[in-house]
Amino acid sequence: FRANIKQLPADPLFGLKARYAKDLRSNKVDLGIGAYRDDNGKPWILPSVRLAENMLQNSSEYNHEYLPISGFPSFTSAAARVILGDDSKAISENKLVSIQSLSGTGALHVAGLFLKNQYKSENESANASLPTIYLSNPTWANHFQIFNVLGLKTESYPYWNTSTKSLDLTGLLSTIDSAPEGSVFLLHATAHNPTGLDPNEEQWSKILDALSKKRHLPLFDSAYQGFSSGSLAKDAWAVRQAVNNMGSKYQFPGLLICQSFAKNVGMYGERVGAVHVVLPSNDEILQNAIQSQLSKIIRSEISNPPAYGAKIVSKILNTPELYKQWEQDLITMSSRIGKMRQELVNELNRLETPGTWNHITEQQGMFSFTGLTPEQVASLEKDHGVYLVGSGRASIAGLNPGNVAYVAKCIDAVVRG
Ligand code: PMP
Repeated sequence: FRANIKQLPADPLFGLKARYAKDLRSNKVDLGIGAYRDDNGKPWILPSVRLAENMLQNSSEYNHEYLPISGFPSFTSAAARVILGDDSKAISENKLVSIQSLSGTGALHVAGLFLKNQYKSENESANASLPTIYLSNPTWANHFQIFNVLGLKTESYPYWNTSTKSLDLTGLLSTIDSAPEGSVFLLHATAHNPTGLDPNEEQWSKILDALSKKRHLPLFDSAYQGFSSGSLAKDAWAVRQAVNNMGSKYQFPGLLICQSFAKNVGMYGERVGAVHVVLPSNDEILQNAIQSQLSKIIRSEISNPPAYGAKIVSKILNTPELYKQWEQDLITMSSRIGKMRQELVNELNRLETPGTWNHITEQQGMFSFTGLTPEQVASLEKDHGVYLVGSGRASIAGLNPGNVAYVAKCIDAVVRG
């Protein structure tokens, strides 16, 4: 070993989880990690998942054999239909390459490595510098290290305007315009993490127009489809708008989707995900080449992806009754979160807590960027046992009827100082 191997600080989120676990206060509240909790604060196994598990265990598909390198075919093809829509031309005109991944994180890693090895912007020579990945400011902290460990450069684009607590569209468009042609822009497909703030349709159209003008490559990170509105189609609006207009209105060199089923199927630990590469036109030779390059990455890193979760999700996606149940489950989760947002704001208003809080109900998905300062967050943890990330991000899924009034009271106390 090298001398002086440096000990790194604990991952902020998993460190927070460990401090929460050690806290002996009975009224402690975990608003840290982004995992859905039910009204009793407990993890929730979706009814659609329970049905699929029963069905799988009674079927001939139930075994623990290896999957093919590229994954469980009925999972990857159904996963593509979920994000792109049943009527997607990218699917019917065969412009797609899909491969199974280790959930969303693994998808981002595979996408990053694939881009590192095989993507160069149009006006770069073969040995030109690597593409830069542009990330929203702020973004999910892991984005930086996923790409940085691959040796890829990352840059930030303006996103959250702290003073207005809304989207900095002007800053975002100007960065798109000034970035070197053919750069990679990572976009949160829905339920932006950590802010909970998504562009509206008009803003998305402007973003996509600007990306197309500079022939940038959109990389959609889709980790929360169904969590924002409860509707899979609505939450995929931006992705479908981009894909359906490729080769006509939008001149993207290609488009990547990193898809996670951790949250929307509640199978966090089973690592179910996929990477989809959408090409501007049907090109079978290129498709086969890309498929082989993605397969090489999977084969060398994990040999083949995990089977159990993919088989469960495939059952849900390919069995109409289960799909219906899943859609209902998404409504259960997204509407409970919506209700908690509203109750938190009602309580803060009732307490006349200084400041404005309506941004909490305007945001969507699992998280809220509360606007609380690092000092206020530290005091919430130390003095009240309410745990959230230093940036002021709260996982609204951690609120329930039993703790929301307490959390509002604690926020009120730290805001008043
Ligand atoms: N992208 C974003 C924006 C996320 O918030 C997450 C989960 N926190 C992921 C990707 C990946 O999650 P997983 O690897 O569990 O699918």
